[in-house]
Amino acid sequence: MKENQIKDIKEFLSSPKKISIIPHKNPDGDAIGSSLGLMHYLKKLGHTVHVISPNEYPNFLKWMPGNNEVIKFDYQEDYAKRILKASDLIFTLDFNSLSRIEEMKPYLESLDVDFAMIDHHQQPDGYAKYTYSDVSMSATCEMIYNFISYLGDLDQIDADIATCLYAGIMTDTGSFRFSSTTSTTHRIIADLIDKGAKNTEIHNAIFDSNSIDKLHLLGVALNNLVFLEAYNMVYITLTKAELEKHNFKKGDTEGFVNYGLSIEGVKLSIIFIENNDGDYIKISLRSKGDFSVNEMARKHFNGGGHINAAGGRSDMNMEDTINKLNEILPYYQKELQ
Ligand code: 5GP
Ligand code: MN
Repeated sequence: MKENQIKDIKEFLSSPKKISIIPHKNPDGDAIGSSLGLMHYLKKLGHTVHVISPNEYPNFLKWMPGNNEVIKFDYQEDYAKRILKASDLIFTLDFNSLSRIEEMKPYLESLDVDFAMIDHHQQPDGYAKYTYSDVSMSATCEMIYNFISYLGDLDQIDADIATCLYAGIMTDTGSFRFSSTTSTTHRIIADLIDKGAKNTEIHNAIFDSNSIDKLHLLGVALNNLVFLEAYNMVYITLTKAELEKHNFKKGDTEGFVNYGLSIEGVKLSIIFIENNDGDYIKISLRSKGDFSVNEMARKHFNGGGHINAAGGRSDMNMEDTINKLNEILPYYQKELQ
């Protein structure tokens, strides 16, 4: 973050303000962790703070301190709009474009309010007055830690803040294994543990809270996995009927796509999941090394993300979507060798 922006925002935060914080739609551990971590910090400074999520998120994220204060825009639209309208500043966390909050976008664009973006995705849009964007960061939660540090307030980080930030860094780094994990990430994690984050409890709360339905659905996904050896890639499909058979709940398919990358030599893994309403297919892409799934998602699947983790969607049915994949793959064959 630039010096003058830090100075400006410090000055702005020197008197009590009304602040809203928005994570991206279908928030993940990093989006919720960064939003709640920042909320706890700003409340400690004496501000009035609300976290407004575009929509619901999985149960395995609902144990975080402050979770019951999160407002869901899709359930409580009028209430959320009143809070947003009265805000002096709106933080947008863990996303790079207002299109990532879909239904909230038009309302936010109609407001006369300043935005502060903190995010680690590529190609950030320019809607914010204060922009802290760094694609080298492992997680937005790591950036919230830095942001608090820039404001000279590391001693304000208590167990609640540390817990939320730990959870987001842990989930976005695949438990500290992705290449975005640096020695600095580990130093920050060490400090968060010193400040009260209980690492074993956080891992258990997120990873050991599966339902039997979810594990059966994972069995279906692994059974459906297709290995395209010529492209060093795999893809997985899950239909609406398969989801329904196993009482699908939000978040149940989280992490499934990563299993594809565990096959020796595989560089690209994609999962195609029919949306609950059946009108589009949600796509998650993961890669290893320098194969950019961000580029693939942007170019072919109306999405984006990072080099090694991206998402998108297809408005065609499953069969046509897979046909499209097979059509584009030859263009990537060289890169995937
Ligand atoms: P996931 O596959 O877990 O949904 O998302 C992986 C990464 O891609 C995340 O960083 C997420 O923000 C990004 N992403 C997921 N879906 C979309 C999408 O539809 N559009 C864009 N631009 N990014 C996405
Ligand atoms: Mn993130």
